[in-house]
Amino acid sequence: MHLLSASMEAAVGGSSMIRKMFEQGLELKRRFGADNVYDFSLGNPDLPSPSGTAEVLAEIARGAEDPLAFGYCPNAGIPAVREKVAAVVSREQETAVDASHLLMTVGAAGGITAFFRAVLEPGDEVICPSPYFVEYGSYCGHFGGCLVPVPMPAPDFGLDVAALEAAVTPRTRVLLLNNPNNPTGAVYGRETLAAVGRMLARVNEGRDRPVFLLSDEPYRALCYDGFEVPPILPVCPFAVVVGSYSKTLSLAGERVGYLLVNPAMPDAGTLVAALTITIRSLGFVNAPVIGQRLVAGLCDKGVDVATYQRRRDAMSEVLAGAGIRFAQPHGAFYTFAEAPGGDDKAFVEHLAGERILGVPGSGFGRAGYVRFAFCVNEKNIRDSAPAFRRAMDSWASR
Ligand code: PLP
Repeated sequence: MHLLSASMEAAVGGSSMIRKMFEQGLELKRRFGADNVYDFSLGNPDLPSPSGTAEVLAEIARGAEDPLAFGYCPNAGIPAVREKVAAVVSREQETAVDASHLLMTVGAAGGITAFFRAVLEPGDEVICPSPYFVEYGSYCGHFGGCLVPVPMPAPDFGLDVAALEAAVTPRTRVLLLNNPNNPTGAVYGRETLAAVGRMLARVNEGRDRPVFLLSDEPYRALCYDGFEVPPILPVCPFAVVVGSYSKTLSLAGERVGYLLVNPAMPDAGTLVAALTITIRSLGFVNAPVIGQRLVAGLCDKGVDVATYQRRRDAMSEVLAGAGIRFAQPHGAFYTFAEAPGGDDKAFVEHLAGERILGVPGSGFGRAGYVRFAFCVNEKNIRDSAPAFRRAMDSWASR
């Protein structure tokens, strides 16, 4: 009997590893206590939302008697919220954008999905640098799109623009960048993005269906060592930004993000009109209204990035102390470290024997690595040092 579509049968089969890891983590915490398990597997932001969050929520609660307080809102978002967010992203993008080019979405995930629905035909290709956030494949696959991961050079996984250009075919529809990058923590700088812009200008010359540049920036504010995410709108008229408040305001469960269409795009209004439809027709209808109002009250603030930087430093010390090699991440909250010997799945299983949990790089399209998420408290990271050292000793002598 087949309950599922063929593609979902494959997806359920493929998700067994993640399910197994999740269950293993729960079981270890039950047996040994959460403090004695070093769970670096999940990217769930654990810092409190910025100060002022409770006051904004109280203000929302005071408006609860308005009969439409929690009713449907326009599909593209609450107009006042769009205006507020547009003012902030105008500064980030060094480009004047108004609310008419910005739509509130159900997180970055909902934004990317709504965008793909608007522009992809079955068989279209979405190029992305690899390793990459694995959900991208599902987001474009829903509409018959095909993800084309292009391997980026180790150890720091900076963008190889020539390799991206070589991957372009007549069916290419989107170049999807993630800056800062999950899982590598790489931050792409101005020069690199300018080169991407020049490459896309060449590619789009005379092309009837342009290649869009979709910039997925949910970790935009989480940069360390003075690194910054440069604006993407100035580099390509076909740029679309997808943003999110999941990480930068620790509102991941509230599901709020945005799509920003470059005002310089020829016929930008048509794309905005299409996105307004896809947000509705995909079943999102509109981004959650409490979350949107929270964002309006908080979007010029952010979580305490210095805490993440201290955790990043702690993770680097612990890994280096155990002899594990990695490139220093300058953004997001992940360290993508080498699995000694190259078998990432076996190494992850071995680490679990010392109650250390990470995710094999194969899950991000790059075998031979392990992703450690450092969105856990600093003490837990530092406490893991002896366990890492023991794991490395026994790995070497196995
Ligand atoms: N893009 C990347 C690279 C991510 O890592 C995530 C979540 O972890 C998302 C998109 C989805 O984020 P959101 O919670 O905004 O939907």
